[in-house]
Amino acid sequence: MREVKQATKLKNVDYDIRGPILEQANKMEEAGERILKLNIGNPAPFGFEAPDDILKDVIRLLPKAQGYSEAQGIYSARVAVMQYYQQKGISNIAIDDVYLGNGVSELITLSMQALLDSGDEVLIPSPDYPLWTASVNLSSGNAVHYKCDEQAGWFPDIQDIRSKITNRTKAIVIINPNNPTGAVYSKSLLLEICEVAREFGLVIFSDEIYDKVLYDEVNHISIASLAPDLFCVTLSGLSKNYRVAGFRAGWMLVSGNKKIAQNYIEGLSFMSSMRMCSNVPCQHAIQTALGGYQSINDLVRGEGRLLAQRNIAWQRLNEIPGISCVKPNGAMYCFAKVDTQKYKIDSDEKLILDILRDKKILLVHGSAFNLREGCYFRLVFLPHKDVLAPALDRIEDFFLHNAAK
Ligand code: PLP
Repeated sequence: MREVKQATKLKNVDYDIRGPILEQANKMEEAGERILKLNIGNPAPFGFEAPDDILKDVIRLLPKAQGYSEAQGIYSARVAVMQYYQQKGISNIAIDDVYLGNGVSELITLSMQALLDSGDEVLIPSPDYPLWTASVNLSSGNAVHYKCDEQAGWFPDIQDIRSKITNRTKAIVIINPNNPTGAVYSKSLLLEICEVAREFGLVIFSDEIYDKVLYDEVNHISIASLAPDLFCVTLSGLSKNYRVAGFRAGWMLVSGNKKIAQNYIEGLSFMSSMRMCSNVPCQHAIQTALGGYQSINDLVRGEGRLLAQRNIAWQRLNEIPGISCVKPNGAMYCFAKVDTQKYKIDSDEKLILDILRDKKILLVHGSAFNLREGCYFRLVFLPHKDVLAPALDRIEDFFLHNAAK
């Protein structure tokens, strides 16, 4: 019998957040060890449950949600998404500009498949949420990484973006609030990005899945609200703001200069129809989520649990000699730098494996986020402080005793 092999195009596609180190952690669990998994931003298992209204709605409407919906999604959910972005200042949008998907993940892949021909380039941040790079490569495009500058609070380096533009560059991706760095972009930075997109005729893709997970009174601005003359695609969903990652409920909005993108928009509609529609029962959660009480605010402000955990994680990491972490203003991650002058590090991947074996804590190495310089790791600060604080003790202990030069 002939061997069944994966397509060669997958050689270029990485998604290390769920890669070989996770497999190692799973093996250790099967062997009876208890592993604290701080590798994935999945709020529900850490006790961040969805608002009741959302759950009730899905249950109540389940019998009515047995059939396919329209390919772009049910009307009420798309109205709610449209209104949400109108309130965020995005003008000139209609219900048909909204596409629902099985999470933002599906829409990232779909939007790249519909856009790219072989060799087309897309500017992607480094570090990034690696699905963007993977989806560009899977779509036979080239992911070209631009630098986000740690010294500048991980804001994108506009000069670097400019220097990477060629006549094959079709689009720029921003992730705001950012995973893995937690940076929330200022209006002036977003305006600079718009200026570059305007000058070179780039489509802007803005992944805003953490747009309500904000600390320290920062505001979130949707870049599309600043660029009515440019063609923008804004993506978000229920996974993080409403803690229902398992519902796979996401959306994508096309806005701005839709005239120039008519042909691409037809491609998006075509690709949407190819997968029939997204998970219908959970489409019903969208209107209730967006229109209801925003309980995320109770978690990220004042005495909020997530804010307290962010503070513990960020402070404790910075107290470890040779570890530094820019304060994340959004999302649910600390992205920490390891001083390689102080610690003997063969590779960031080996470091994460050693921490896993020694301290039974699973983190993600910086190069998994397409950051090839320096040594970094990402920690998810979702566990309750009673679990998080001892985990940080163990991480500190690892650096003090295992890795010192
Ligand atoms: N975009 C970013 C920046 C993310 O961090 C994630 C998940 O962690 C996703 C998209 C995927 O979201 P979804 O659950 O909607 O597929």
